Amino acid sequence: EAKTRGRNAWSVFDPQLQRTVRERAALEVDIRMALEQGHFLLHYQPVVDAEGRVQGAEALVRWKHPERGLIPPGAFIPAAEQMGLIFALDRWVLRLACQQLALWAQDAATADWTLAVNLSAQEFRHADFVSRMQDILRDTGARADRLKLELTESLMLDEVEDSIAKMQTLRGWGIQFSLDDFGTGYSSLGYLKRLPLSQLKIDQSFVRDVLLDANDAAIVRTVIALGQSLGLEVVAEGVETRGQLDFLVAHGCRRFQGYLFGRPAEAQMLLAHAGLVVPAG
Ligand code: C2E
Ligand code: MG
Ligand code: MG
Ligand code: MG
Repeated sequence: EAKTRGRNAWSVFDPQLQRTVRERAALEVDIRMALEQGHFLLHYQPVVDAEGRVQGAEALVRWKHPERGLIPPGAFIPAAEQMGLIFALDRWVLRLACQQLALWAQDAATADWTLAVNLSAQEFRHADFVSRMQDILRDTGARADRLKLELTESLMLDEVEDSIAKMQTLRGWGIQFSLDDFGTGYSSLGYLKRLPLSQLKIDQSFVRDVLLDANDAAIVRTVIALGQSLGLEVVAEGVETRGQLDFLVAHGCRRFQGYLFGRPAEAQMLLAHAGLVVPAG
């Protein structure tokens, strides 16, 4: 009893905690304002095939902060998820990404490109998600079969049956699903088999040391083989060097994303990359 009270009393006056609470509250206000004032933007990172040809891109959100400059998503997505602001943010991202897809559709050079959008499990699980998605596709004119939704393994934590049903509905429209950061989260091969996925993304933490660490190499080889046996496309993330690329190609990976091919940048930059070919092997 005394111990509990003691701990609570201590935490109330803990200056570190006080600061964290204040920072959190300030961040919440900032994120709300940024949404209202249009201070978020999307960068696009190319996804290429084994010949180095651009197949599409992943949309990655950035916060263009008036004082702090460009802030990466790792600094605000977790907070936005905790504060219930991720719904508005992810919907904004989806809408802009679909507008971009509709633009690409008008140009022969980019008409086949797919665009992958990261989705928080919270937004995906929202009861209105399917109808929101339908509205966005209708409003923007984007082709559903050019859109990829990237989900993480946290999706498998609960309400799995609901999620599978929802994925099947969207899959029926042509939307494809990709399992992001594969191998870093809660994995169940049983669920993996049941999810209507078309793609697995090997997390960059495994790719980074693939030439140095035998365990990472084994994981990467296993994920590629797993994808192949389940009929899923496998994308390697975080490909920075020629050596990493050669390893991945040698083991059957056919889709790549990473600084070797292009950093996330504005849509215009991606168009410039489209001509830039880095052949593998
Ligand atoms: P992710 O979906 O796994 O995205 C890949 C991350 O790896 C991106 O970080 C990208 O910039 C980075 N990256 C790409 N190539 C390389 C490389 O060669 N080397 C290294 N070291 N890094 C590379 P970013 O943009 O900071 O995004 C971080 C995470 O934030 C994303 O991880 C995704 O989970 C989340 N995120 C981004 N945009 C959104 C969004 O619109 N909505 C939601 N809910 N989450 C998002
Ligand atoms: Mg992603
Ligand atoms: Mg990832
Ligand atoms: Mg990640």
